[in-house]
Amino acid sequence: MLKKYFHYIHEECGIFGVYGHPEAANLTYLGLYALQHRGQEGAGICSTDGKNFYLDKSMGLVADIFSEKRLKKLCGHAAIGHNRYSTAGSSSLKNVQPFLVNYILGSIAIAHNGNLINAEHLRYELEKGGAIFQSSSDSEVILHLIARSTLDNPVDRIKDALSIVKGAFSLLFLDESKLIAVRDPFGVRPLSLGILDGAYIIASETCAFDLIGANYIRDIQPGEILVIDENGLKSYHLLGSNKKAFCVFEFIYFARPDSFIFDHICVNTIRKKFGKILARDSSIEADLVIPVPDSGVPAALGFAEKSGLPFDFGLIRNHYIGRTFIEPKQSIRHFGVKIKLNPVKDILKDKKVIVVDDSIVRGTTSKKIVKMIRELGGAKEVHMRIASPPTIGPCFYGIDTPTRQELIASTHMIEEIRKYITADSLAYLTIEGLNEVLPNPENYCLACFNNKYPIHFPKEDSLQMELMLV
Ligand code: AMP
Ligand code: SF4
Repeated sequence: MLKKYFHYIHEECGIFGVYGHPEAANLTYLGLYALQHRGQEGAGICSTDGKNFYLDKSMGLVADIFSEKRLKKLCGHAAIGHNRYSTAGSSSLKNVQPFLVNYILGSIAIAHNGNLINAEHLRYELEKGGAIFQSSSDSEVILHLIARSTLDNPVDRIKDALSIVKGAFSLLFLDESKLIAVRDPFGVRPLSLGILDGAYIIASETCAFDLIGANYIRDIQPGEILVIDENGLKSYHLLGSNKKAFCVFEFIYFARPDSFIFDHICVNTIRKKFGKILARDSSIEADLVIPVPDSGVPAALGFAEKSGLPFDFGLIRNHYIGRTFIEPKQSIRHFGVKIKLNPVKDILKDKKVIVVDDSIVRGTTSKKIVKMIRELGGAKEVHMRIASPPTIGPCFYGIDTPTRQELIASTHMIEEIRKYITADSLAYLTIEGLNEVLPNPENYCLACFNNKYPIHFPKEDSLQMELMLV
């Protein structure tokens, strides 16, 4: 049973919602466009005019899916949208959200960012009771629980359902009369409230507000159920943790640097500070600092500023790569990495180079990059600096990470990793350094760096955790 649903753990998503705007679907399209980095596998929008619902979703990128003609059909003053990323296996249209269902109280649509850790067990129990699922997504479990609740209004039913699920969830629900935004009691994934021309906007990240000209109001609080309808805003609260567990990896890699998350902290500023602390603790004699674009840019800027070394773009990234490309028949050296990155020989030749990236997962990217900078770029020395601590544990709360065995830092010492990636030196940001930068570090989840998982697996699902941790 567990193996069957094992792919649940690979989810990264972006969500966006609008209430009270005549162009709700168009704004949602733009919001999803700004949140494209949170998921590229598929996207969908569900809108309502208070009577009917309109749903459109497809595999692919937001701008490729929605034409003017398709958007025109998504009528109404309220809408929710979803960008989905997932690894192969569960990659299919039936898993693309929003999901829209009918139940005894009417219709309800859901868009979910995060990952439930007891979904396998709940689904098993629901299926045993006769439930039929249309997707393999954990989010559908929430809809079943809402439909089965015996309470007499949608908000109480949502509360009821969410008291049973465990894990990370930033959620949007849309029914005939309201938009509902929810954040799990730990606040693992970000979710913000904004306003545009009197209409309320909800987004995973504030970069989506910027594109449509909305103003940020506040974050949805951990454990908050925010109901938006014709009477305005009303908050309810989920029972649960007093402890917060904001995902630090949003700051390290996942969120866009121009976003403000977790009570409005600028992602770029935090990344730059990570780079500064990294430089303070591990700078080395060199000619220049270069980033691995785009993920390493803010930290490399911080590193260069603190170390006093020149900064340059020694690697150029091709931004126009689709998910597949046709490989040449005859083998071309370094083809796999060259399709994405190319070194600037004039910058690198005969130089001692410090290369800054945000993280090492399996180590394969760093190995290729070091080789490329040395062999193609002609650098004399390559020193790798990583603006996060060694990744030693998988994520169960909505970031796509491989099993522990595949994480190079879980099985190798830093010196062994250095040898593997063939760098002249290698250093990571320490956990202490990370905590120095974070405001109120006790409010963050650092589990993939310190193995302290804030949301515990229920007994029934502990096998899944064990399988991931071997
Ligand atoms: P690897 O080759 O597995 O070590 O991959 C490391 C690279 O992947 C780094 O350059 C990161 O920017 C990037 N990265 C880290 N975490 C993720 C993730 N969850 N999804 C996609 N890319 C990631
Ligand atoms: Fe974020 Fe890592 Fe915690 Fe997952 S385990 S929520 S990636 S900090």
